[in-house]
Amino acid sequence: MRLRDDRIGARGRKGGAGPTDHKAITIGDRTVMVPVYNDASKFSPFEATGPGLDGHAILLRDGAPVAKISYPRQARFYALQTFDGIPYWKIAQLHSHDVLATTVLQNCIRYADRATSCQFCAIGQSLAENRTIAHKTPEQLGEVARAAVLLDGVKHVVLTTGTPNVIDRGAAVLCESAKGIRAAIDIPIQGQCEPPRDHGWFEKLRDAGIDTLGMHLEAVTPEVRARIMPGKATVSLYRYHAAFEAAVRVFGRGQVSTYILAGLGDTAEAILAACETVINLGVYPFVVPFVPVSGTPLADHPAPTPEFMRVILPQIGRMVSRANLRSADIKAGCGRCGACSALASYES
Ligand code: SF4
Repeated sequence: MRLRDDRIGARGRKGGAGPTDHKAITIGDRTVMVPVYNDASKFSPFEATGPGLDGHAILLRDGAPVAKISYPRQARFYALQTFDGIPYWKIAQLHSHDVLATTVLQNCIRYADRATSCQFCAIGQSLAENRTIAHKTPEQLGEVARAAVLLDGVKHVVLTTGTPNVIDRGAAVLCESAKGIRAAIDIPIQGQCEPPRDHGWFEKLRDAGIDTLGMHLEAVTPEVRARIMPGKATVSLYRYHAAFEAAVRVFGRGQVSTYILAGLGDTAEAILAACETVINLGVYPFVVPFVPVSGTPLADHPAPTPEFMRVILPQIGRMVSRANLRSADIKAGCGRCGACSALASYES
């Protein structure tokens, strides 16, 4: 989407781990994260005006009005800073309208070398541009989470991390981060990391205060995994499935999820088959359209077509509904938020 004025609404996010270059907009009663800062957005048929006197803006398609939209307001906690002078917005960000999200470790063993890095990821960009800090301490996270709940009504927290090693793969830093937040405020937390080698970490994560766990496949076909995320693909699908099984035993059905990026080369059939496999394990497949992010090797890779998403999302919506794994029942995290995918609209 193109924006007539990008100073309005909640500040968008450029760079960082996972989906980025978005801005939150609300259509009807749903808030969605819409890419506005990447190159592809400049050629979008959609354009959003600034808000009028009633607070609503108009969404135009090829110049014709198609919907009224609004922009979630800027988070109040962004105005605060820690005692040592770090702005809260460098420690965690508001996603959608009620999610506090942060990358607790902004470094990743896979990122420095393009031979191993995930080609869609921009985890190093925001650090290089001084828009975040490398490691958010448990105390800082607790302080910011408390403010975000009290000032902005944040309902749940997403903790993601770069992969610091190939042993716990981020589980240890998620544990200490969750403890820091839980010491400051009672709020549901999702942790996101690669599958740790030792499945005993799942109990430690739960005991640290993490309610739901995301272990993200991103791509599902071995050839696409090896091309798009050569480092992460060394953790086999078999290891992911074994980890899903073990994690579901600890967190419960539907409280473990995986992110799948549609549009990176996996066919519709491959994505649907992967979803079926993880659903049978009790895992929620959060299928999201790939967004090309500026500055990454995939900056010019096309996003999936609307037709492709219209083929897969209704089928996945039916699959998760049949299995009773609905987004609304997830305690915290991306599946519950749903702002990066229309999947929840297809659940019945
Ligand atoms: S779905 Fe996840 S990444 Fe997307 S806005 Fe929500 S919390 Fe953030």
